[in-house]
Amino acid sequence: MADQSGTVADYIPILGAADPALFGLAVVDVTGGVHDAGDALHPFSIQSISKMFVYALAIQEHGHERVRDIVGVNNTGLPFNSVVALELNAGHPMNPMVNAGAIATTALMPGTTPEEKWERIRTGLSAFAGRELTLDDEVYHSEAETNQRNEGLGSLLSSYGRLEGDSDAIVDIYTRQCALNVTAHDLAVMGATLADGGVNPVTGEQVVSADVCRDTLAVVAASGLYERSGEWLFEIGIPAKSGVSGGIVAVSPGKGAAGAFSPPLDSAGNSVRSQLAIGYLSRALGLNLFASA
Ligand code: GLN
Repeated sequence: MADQSGTVADYIPILGAADPALFGLAVVDVTGGVHDAGDALHPFSIQSISKMFVYALAIQEHGHERVRDIVGVNNTGLPFNSVVALELNAGHPMNPMVNAGAIATTALMPGTTPEEKWERIRTGLSAFAGRELTLDDEVYHSEAETNQRNEGLGSLLSSYGRLEGDSDAIVDIYTRQCALNVTAHDLAVMGATLADGGVNPVTGEQVVSADVCRDTLAVVAASGLYERSGEWLFEIGIPAKSGVSGGIVAVSPGKGAAGAFSPPLDSAGNSVRSQLAIGYLSRALGLNLFASA
């Protein structure tokens, strides 16, 4: 890909060491057909893309209404780590794709100890991927040591009575979920599971219900690329979720999903080349959900 623009994230120190030239693309369809290209098998930390899959697990556990009321479904119009967004809305996180909402979602995972909640997330996301996902220790420690803003968001949620349990412990689980290692190939399988009514098209496992997929994809469409979600939907027309390590997953309901990876990001924290590649695929394959023909 010729486009060299964007900057590799370095507010999590270890992410700054990523090779900006890496580029991987994978497509998985609901029949289990797999297409990998470039660095599709190169591992990277899932970061914010974890939010959509943990959200799906939370709805599966607690149901549509409860999770909607606690976490919200509207775009904040502000960056993913905004404290202002939380203050403007009486401590309500607005949606699960920004950090505050993701921390509130992580708190909803079943389990009486942080270890149990973490294990539920790790095994749940592994079921979406169809293989056992593991923690990238270096990324986890790098973020845990520089995590003041997320700890601040957790404390603020607690101060508004919107987070049950110890906020630092919940933020620590959230930090671990962001440090799970995946590849672009994994993202495509995970996304294709949401495209396929919750059935992983590679393993055949029913991971979540079809209703949960519908709810999750609606929220991803509204807020998956943060304050740029409207632009993305207008131009490309399919739900997509990004993470600061450079991954994006885009889901075409009933058809399949694409996973892309390229570290340089735009100013909202969305991978430049991943957006270009998935945008190209969406146009070439006619995936825009709003197009009549
Ligand atoms: N772990 C990152 C954070 O909390 C995830 C952010 C992202 O990928 N946008 O800041």
